[in-house]
Amino acid sequence: MPNEVKEHMSNLPIILNSNVTDCHTWKGNLNGLYTARDGYHWLNRNDFSDNSTTTVTWSWLWHIPAPEKIKFFLWTALHKALPTKEMLSHRGMLQDNSCPRCNNNIETTIHCLRDCDVVKNVWKSVGYTNNMFYQGVDIYVWLQSGLDSPSTFLFMAAIWLIWCTRNKLCFNNEIVSQFSLRLQIENFALLLRACFLTQQMVTTTKLVKWNALGSTDMILNVDGSSIGNPGASGFGGLIRNSDGAWVHGFSGNIGFSNILHAELMALYHGLLLAWELNIKDLQCYSDSATAIKLITEPVDKWHHYAAIILTIKDIIARDWRVRISHTLREGNACADYLAKLGARNNEVLSIIASPPVGLNLLLLADASGTCFCR
Ligand SMILES: [Zn+2]
Repeated sequence: MPNEVKEHMSNLPIILNSNVTDCHTWKGNLNGLYTARDGYHWLNRNDFSDNSTTTVTWSWLWHIPAPEKIKFFLWTALHKALPTKEMLSHRGMLQDNSCPRCNNNIETTIHCLRDCDVVKNVWKSVGYTNNMFYQGVDIYVWLQSGLDSPSTFLFMAAIWLIWCTRNKLCFNNEIVSQFSLRLQIENFALLLRACFLTQQMVTTTKLVKWNALGSTDMILNVDGSSIGNPGASGFGGLIRNSDGAWVHGFSGNIGFSNILHAELMALYHGLLLAWELNIKDLQCYSDSATAIKLITEPVDKWHHYAAIILTIKDIIARDWRVRISHTLREGNACADYLAKLGARNNEVLSIIASPPVGLNLLLLADASGTCFCR
């Protein structure tokens, strides 16, 4: 075996747990359980990665604060799949592709929803008077910027009712006056706002600080870092007393891996260090909700990190009092610093007796109870 391979293998941070036996497990997902969705992504992995920079993503659309029928309508429009007359005639379902409103242009999606003179007057009557609004021909860009504006509810109400009145005209020959449509749009916008505004992130600034729970035990902060995820990964952490005074720190490198692995290794080494320092009451903070969930819930034996997770559980179950809590990133800045240090260096594990110079300001901020905005 070549030397570099031997060296690489001996550097792999393998933690074996006698309760976990080797088994075949599904590679496409860290929890080791096969799903059709993962299988599909695995089969398409090369296609997806090749086009990843140019692929348009749609997932944001499903998170906008709107009724499902409007989301579905917008999704259809974004996929250029609205049954406009242009689309229907293109598919041979209609002879005539002209706009039912103005009879003057081909009814494309953008004409139907924005550019038709009749429709333009509706948009203008509810306040869209800036010419910028009517520029550009990319429906994706136009819809996204309309939805991503402060008047998102008005935009949604208008586009939905413009489509509905177009259908009334096509199917029932019913004409809705511009005045009546304007009132309907304004009322519908208010209704949408009343129903969905609370669900939308009413952005209030949140203040976060170190040791947010105010524990008086010894405090362990841990963090993982993965440059590229997956990529060069490391972990780090530190133990302080409840006044914020430095006790001990650590950092380490786990080679090419992912963020969950790094977060778990941070917990493992942090807890072990605290145990070796003979600490009996420990408050541990991690900013990885996934890692905390894994070590507080039953472990699936298929999980790629089942052995690490069980080993961490074993350490927690020893004769001491350990509480593990989630902290927001802003409350975990010192551990984040050490995790990045670990990811950038090649040391498998360094125990740090006195704080690196770059950490001093962060330590001071935490010790003096500084609140960070998020
Ligand atoms: Zn028209």
